[in-house]
Amino acid sequence: MDEEYESIVEKAKSILEKYPLCDRCLGRMFAGLGYGWSNKERGDALKRVLVMELHRAVREGGEAEEEEFKKIAPNIGSQASGLYEKLTGRRLEPRECAICGGRLDSFIEEAAVKARGLLKAYDISRYVVGARVDPGVEEAERRIREEFGLAYGESIRAEIRREIGKRLMSDDTRPDFSDPEATVLVHFPSGRIELQVNSLLLRARYWKKARYISQAYWPSPEGPRYFSVEQAAWGLLRVTGAERLVLHAAGREDVDARMLGSGRPAIIELKVPRRRRLSLSELEEAANREGRGLVEFRIEGLASRREVRLYKQDYSKTRKVYKALVAFSDPSATDRLGELEEFFRDRVVLQRTPRRVLHRRPDRLRRRRVYGVSCRPLERGVVECLIEAEGGLYVKELVSGDAGRTSPSFASVLGVNAECVELDVLLVEHGGF
Ligand SMILES: [Zn+2]
Repeated sequence: MDEEYESIVEKAKSILEKYPLCDRCLGRMFAGLGYGWSNKERGDALKRVLVMELHRAVREGGEAEEEEFKKIAPNIGSQASGLYEKLTGRRLEPRECAICGGRLDSFIEEAAVKARGLLKAYDISRYVVGARVDPGVEEAERRIREEFGLAYGESIRAEIRREIGKRLMSDDTRPDFSDPEATVLVHFPSGRIELQVNSLLLRARYWKKARYISQAYWPSPEGPRYFSVEQAAWGLLRVTGAERLVLHAAGREDVDARMLGSGRPAIIELKVPRRRRLSLSELEEAANREGRGLVEFRIEGLASRREVRLYKQDYSKTRKVYKALVAFSDPSATDRLGELEEFFRDRVVLQRTPRRVLHRRPDRLRRRRVYGVSCRPLERGVVECLIEAEGGLYVKELVSGDAGRTSPSFASVLGVNAECVELDVLLVEHGGF
């Protein structure tokens, strides 16, 4: 082992004696030394000092020193060409960089131009840059670093990321690692660039003012069976140029239930949008353009990916208020509504999966709490009930008992048949929203 201290220039000389390297690839071997310079500047500086050292040796020495210079000059490249021509009278033919093949410098400039065009085309102002590097290139780099014990180097991947990231910065575009709108992925040396565009996520609420509207767009060969809340928002596709719209709602009401009152919290996801810089009022106006007066949206702000998960997970734990129109088989039940209200004060109800949804959901037992029921008779045997309960309660079955699958129920408590004729959701509380 060579224990002797080796200066940086001596180290650079040892490397270049064996491997031709471009300025960037040489400079990168010492990336951790000096501050505020590019690796290209580092490599260039090292090569110039090295040429000066070699020149001094030639002037002070003799033929052996000149031979040494002539041997290393093609591995140094342009910095050595002046002295080489002066000494030999011939043009220097530099060798190709042993790591990048001499392509890295122009690659960075060209990829940055292409990437800037893509960011503009997709209206991106916050980005991250990722790099994929051919394994052969990374292997060559690693070998040289190990062979010469270079502790201050960085990887070609890190350099590509940083240099392109820097070139993409402008007054209205900047890198953002925590919440980027897109990832620019560049491939070296092929020059291929991918733009992975993150969705535009809007925090919203919707109101469903009519019955027989589904939440999700559900196409079939004959067309969708119902108009949907998702479809109602398609004006957003047109205004943002997005490829697809997905509604992530905090729960869902039945197709024949209206969503009134507080509206239902939801996140509208616009996939691969081409326009993002729209005001909330422009977005809301677009969201309401195709609702036919049946569905309405309020756009409350931008949302994060993390919130989408919250909307999907937690809704069942929250409080809901329903308005049910209930018909009893025996009109005299109307006289005993006090019993019903009394009984369902903070009562746990056990529900097996309702028969009407058994074809698409597994048969499970669910426990849900009813916090309270308050009834207003409209005529004999017909009652409007406000039901406050935990999310996920099957309200129609709470009324009818679903042939004993839900217990207790309005029907079992009053000992009559009961049916939920119409259902509206009035309040959907959603933790923190
Ligand atoms: Zn190189």
